[in-house]
Amino acid sequence: MAEAPFVPYYGEDPEQTLAILQRSILPPVLPRTASLALNLLRHDIIGHATQQPLSAFARSALGEPVRQPPPGCRSFSIPTDLTVFAEKVSAVAEQFRVLKLKLGSGDLGLDLATVSVARMAAPDAYLLIDVNGGWDLLEAAPMIEKIAHYGPALIEQPIHHRHGPEAWEELRSNLPGDAPPIFADESIQSAADIPALADFIDGVNIKLLKCGSFDAAVAAIAAARQHSLQILLGCMIESSLGTTAAAHLAPWADWIDLDGHFYVANDDFTGIQYDARGELVMPDHPGIGATAK
Ligand SMILES: [Mg+2]
Repeated sequence: MAEAPFVPYYGEDPEQTLAILQRSILPPVLPRTASLALNLLRHDIIGHATQQPLSAFARSALGEPVRQPPPGCRSFSIPTDLTVFAEKVSAVAEQFRVLKLKLGSGDLGLDLATVSVARMAAPDAYLLIDVNGGWDLLEAAPMIEKIAHYGPALIEQPIHHRHGPEAWEELRSNLPGDAPPIFADESIQSAADIPALADFIDGVNIKLLKCGSFDAAVAAIAAARQHSLQILLGCMIESSLGTTAAAHLAPWADWIDLDGHFYVANDDFTGIQYDARGELVMPDHPGIGATAK
């Protein structure tokens, strides 16, 4: 059993992808979603046959993790009402000490207010700031400096992914040496994109779908580590089957952002859980380990 999500960003058509999967001979290059689903299915079948969790494959490729899985994280979309937002943040912070804030609202004042309000509502939380490419090259450095006052743990994708390495280099040259860690998300799709940006960033958001397979995500983690980059393990909006597959890489990540299944109204699977302290709890089953409800 395996799953891969369709996201609008990649423009892949579900019906076309299913039609390709139903062919008796698969084409040499598969759509990204089909590639991930087939790769995870293969791992799940092997895991069941060998009674090993998916993480055993990562361990054989990456070696022993150096740390426990990072604490769980909950995300907040761009707020429309800051009072309601403050209440939500403080309620969630009672369980989770890592909170992800989406910025890039198009209103720099609202972006700053979002961080300020969240910091007041959750004084001790680690704040992961995701700009989703929402600032232009002139705005990004001053915004990062302003947000630095609120002590964020990292700032992700401050500039749009249409910009190449030269823009990241320019951004880095405009930042002070003690700037918060800067992470790339959409600008790095897989391991191959890491070397060109590695000198200008501090970390990378690695997601199974971006890489196109569990194996490629393992390779991206290895490349990031080789370049001394921190790793944020992310996901798309997907069921517990998808987020649980990704969670097998959590022991090799510095941060995890695996809450996509909370946004699925009809999650058909039971997989990863978060305990009362927001810690990740893996299911105790072979393969991906999520089970149908
Ligand atoms: Mg992101």
